[in-house]
Amino acid sequence: MTRALTEEQRERGRLRAKEWYQKNRERAKKRMKDYRAQNQEKVTSGIVRWRKEHPEKVASYSRGRYERRRDAVQEKIAVAHGTNVRCMYDIHPNIPGELKQHGCWGELSFEHPNGGGKRDTKENGSYAVTIGILSGRRNPNDYLLLCRLHQIWNMKPGRRKALPSSESSNTPEDMKKVEEES
Ligand SMILES: [Zn+2]
Repeated sequence: MTRALTEEQRERGRLRAKEWYQKNRERAKKRMKDYRAQNQEKVTSGIVRWRKEHPEKVASYSRGRYERRRDAVQEKIAVAHGTNVRCMYDIHPNIPGELKQHGCWGELSFEHPNGGGKRDTKENGSYAVTIGILSGRRNPNDYLLLCRLHQIWNMKPGRRKALPSSESSNTPEDMKKVEEES
């Protein structure tokens, strides 16, 4: 019979395991790698089964990872431009003056102003760009952060309708004006 562990004992166990891992990281990594190589099918089918049985966990893990990556990329771009994480419409070379008069609205995303607007992300996928910036293969200086409103300069007129009109410092009337002007 196993005795139930107290939370304190469990915490101590976790700490010990962590210490051991830190001291034996290379060995542990190699051991895992060897094990995986020898038991590939077992490991893979276990993961597949677990993912099938826990769809909600899979979704929340990848959401969390997406958000952490997005935050890290935005931070890197902001630091590269010597500023904080914000919409950079004021230093963007292509945003028309009348669009600059409108306040920011919507979530931030990155854009490559000198790479033909969205072409870079379109051709390589925003995932590739994200990973590229995080790994240092892409220069965060080449990118700018823009809110959804200020990205409008780069949208085809037909797509501008897709902009929702809530939670905004801009009224829907403002949005319409922006669409007509730009
Ligand atoms: Zn903005």
